[in-house]
Amino acid sequence: MSTYHSPFDRLRAKFDETELTCRQCGYHDESGGWRVSSSGDRVQYQFVCPSCSAVETREMRLS
Ligand SMILES: [Zn+2]
Repeated sequence: MSTYHSPFDRLRAKFDETELTCRQCGYHDESGGWRVSSSGDRVQYQFVCPSCSAVETREMRLS
């Protein structure tokens, strides 16, 4: 059983459960994860495809 300590951890866990598949080339990254950066009340998740270098981004707001 995992214990999350912050909203960041919860969001990160949610994204970590999301399948990482590149929309450009279809590469499926099984061991990678989202890179997280935050500014103000927004959190940005970024995944750079190791195969074709396409960048996937998701942005969420902390409320
Ligand atoms: Zn790709």
